[in-house]
Amino acid sequence: MLAKTKTALSVMGVAVGFILTTAVFTQAQEQVNSPRGRAPVAIADGEYPASYFPNTELLGADEMRITALGTGMPNQTKAAVSISYLVELGNGDNFIFDMGLGSMGNLFSLRPDFSKLDKVFASHLHIDHVGDFMGLHIGGWLSGRYTPIHIYGPTGSSPELGTKAFVEGMQKGYAWDLATRTGALPDKGAQIVVHEFDFKQENEVVYEENGVTIRSWPAIHSLDGSVSYSLEWNGLKYVFGGDTYPNKWYIKYAKDADVASHEAFLPPKTLAAYFGWDLSQATYVSTRVHTEPQAFGKVMSEVKPRLAVGYHSVQSPENNAAIMDGVRKTYDGPLALARDLMVINVTKETIKVRMASVDEYALPPDVTKAYIDAPRTEEKHPGEFVESGKWEGYTPPPMPKKE
Ligand SMILES: [Zn+2]
Ligand SMILES: [Zn+2]
Repeated sequence: MLAKTKTALSVMGVAVGFILTTAVFTQAQEQVNSPRGRAPVAIADGEYPASYFPNTELLGADEMRITALGTGMPNQTKAAVSISYLVELGNGDNFIFDMGLGSMGNLFSLRPDFSKLDKVFASHLHIDHVGDFMGLHIGGWLSGRYTPIHIYGPTGSSPELGTKAFVEGMQKGYAWDLATRTGALPDKGAQIVVHEFDFKQENEVVYEENGVTIRSWPAIHSLDGSVSYSLEWNGLKYVFGGDTYPNKWYIKYAKDADVASHEAFLPPKTLAAYFGWDLSQATYVSTRVHTEPQAFGKVMSEVKPRLAVGYHSVQSPENNAAIMDGVRKTYDGPLALARDLMVINVTKETIKVRMASVDEYALPPDVTKAYIDAPRTEEKHPGEFVESGKWEGYTPPPMPKKE
């Protein structure tokens, strides 16, 4: 008797659950290319869950979500890959600031709609800031993008040191890879459109569309050709510092930022111990090429954002304590030291900082019908010589009929 009741209840439970899920899914489908079996829900009154589970939350129409995809160094670790930030807006637009080495894995773990990830803004051409650009180009093309990818980036002191030359070089280097995929993947997804702009421009517009304005200004780092960006939309402002020594442009143009990110490098002694460098080399790199924590604090005390975000270190417990000690000597405002997959939700009323919880074996995201239907021409095959080497001892199964 007891068993029977239990069965009846659980069947009812399933039925009710199914109806609810379907209803929410229909509403969500229009806004999100949602993975199978997930039903994103709206967050009411700033009551966010403690962790961010990708594709479970609808972004509010007035809301911005910033995800740190990479916060580490060129010598990336499993917990801290190189620099990248994803910015998602309530109007459906997405922007990527830098695509450092290793950041593609973290981006992929969010199972995003790759058809919408077609804009990258490069702060400079160090490998820890653009090393996964081709990974995003090809991986995104494989995973749902059927239109060109756009990269925005600065000139250098000579043409061969600029963003355009970087992209042309990458396309030459990956000629074989790109050739193998044409025909199999959507034709237009192969294209890279470069928007190179003068690294010297001061707070001038780099991008303006759909209510979103992105500006750049010079940064001081290694050589000419490093910049910072601001993104403004719907009365919200995010600043991405890239790599820089503390500079007057950042102090001036990052003002009024809701979220201002800026590097907070390891202080000299900690850097020396971490890399096994001598103190003079560590002091040079930490305080002349980058921004050490006390300098970061001074910058943020001037800018006074609603939230200051520091990044560009490997956060061992010792390193973290050293960074925090330094920053707190010179800045007592709101602060987050970014870690990989840290998520910041921003509205006019609240700023919520959480960690994303992702599946290490995340499946590829679903693709749109437009991706499936996009034209694919000029499929490539090996030549006669290689074809003639096919072993007669194996016959592949017949190809299934096209649906
Ligand atoms: Zn750099
Ligand atoms: Zn860097």
